[in-house]
Amino acid sequence: MANGKRDQAKVTADAAARFAEVFRAAPDGVWQAPGRVNLIGEHTDYNEGFVLPFAIGHTARVAVRLREDSTARLISSYGDEGLVTVDLTRLAPSNMQGWTAYPLGVAWVLGQQGVRVPGFDLFLDSSVPTGAGLSSSAAIECAVALALNDLAGAALSREELVLVGQRAENEVVGAPTGILDQSASLLSTEGHAVFLDCRSRQAEQVPFDLAGSQLVVLVVDTRVSHAHATGDYAARRASCELGAEVLGVPALRDLRVDELAEAAGLLDDETFRRVRHIVTENDRVLCTVAALAEQGPTAVGELLTASHLSMRDDFEISCPELDLAVETALANGALGARMTGGGFGGSAIALIPAATEAGTRQAILTAFRHAGFREPDIFAVTPAAGAGRIG
Ligand code: ADP
Ligand code: MG
Repeated sequence: MANGKRDQAKVTADAAARFAEVFRAAPDGVWQAPGRVNLIGEHTDYNEGFVLPFAIGHTARVAVRLREDSTARLISSYGDEGLVTVDLTRLAPSNMQGWTAYPLGVAWVLGQQGVRVPGFDLFLDSSVPTGAGLSSSAAIECAVALALNDLAGAALSREELVLVGQRAENEVVGAPTGILDQSASLLSTEGHAVFLDCRSRQAEQVPFDLAGSQLVVLVVDTRVSHAHATGDYAARRASCELGAEVLGVPALRDLRVDELAEAAGLLDDETFRRVRHIVTENDRVLCTVAALAEQGPTAVGELLTASHLSMRDDFEISCPELDLAVETALANGALGARMTGGGFGGSAIALIPAATEAGTRQAILTAFRHAGFREPDIFAVTPAAGAGRIG
């Protein structure tokens, strides 16, 4: 704990110092927001269903200082783009490109909602791997949303900031994602997963005590990159909308598993399989929440694995690297494993006994080498705290 606090102080001081190097002044504050692992509930958010993510220790940090004018200057420690300077009065979704679309998108959405956002200088440093399905994008949006909300005195609630981040992602970046990522980043608490009803937007903290059960969640970042703004994610969303329309329900959330047999006769094969994934996945989230409450984390393994098979076969958003990570983890002691995030690359998670961690890691590395795949990045994660001001 003391160690964690010291680390945090150092992280804050580093961000402030690097801000000062670039901008020759101290920041007004430092905010951080975590990436997330979605334990279960994939592509259910935009179908008004259920998700169960938890925040991880990898975070995006922003050091920000307000300016007297309407200029924004932004720089990230990642990449070599250097300082980006824009006039906030000229912001429009069509003129924000690259990584700055995330922070500037948030500033623009706040402006659209009547918040007067002054000019600012911003330094971003993030330890969330990009494009790994751990939501580096929402981590940036949420850190910036909290920072500007505080500095502009907007007093928006966390629930409102979730929607600000989502709108930036949808309308500025152009990725038609739901509220999963921003909710996980803003609403998580340490040692818990967030059970979120994406229709009512009700969030409930579900104890997820990995250490107490001698378990570890391993993330296997396949380093196969995905791009949600491009066609596949949008195509899945369109299939879900088509399925709901043909079946006459407001959203796929409104279908029960025992209604699937009837749905099969009304839909083409592909649309039916997309629908079946969403309907069974919602059911698996509810079962996971119940199993965690009644028996704890050791009881959820099979649900995770069933979720993966549904994504592989019905929703068709997996890839050979993700499948290999899951199969190898399961063959080497995992209680359950699945791809996590939007799919088409990114990361898999495996729920494993802490005692077998080294062996499982090694088995996955070996399997990837034998398959001729790029070496994956493998690390353990624990349910961490949500976003907040750290300096
Ligand atoms: P994910 O959210 O799963 O990591 P996305 O494609 O949604 O993947 O978001 C990744 C994008 O977020 C990157 O292409 C980049 O534009 C931006 N990004 C993430 N981390 C950083 C960073 N540290 N600095 C600058 N941009 C970043
Ligand atoms: Mg993202």
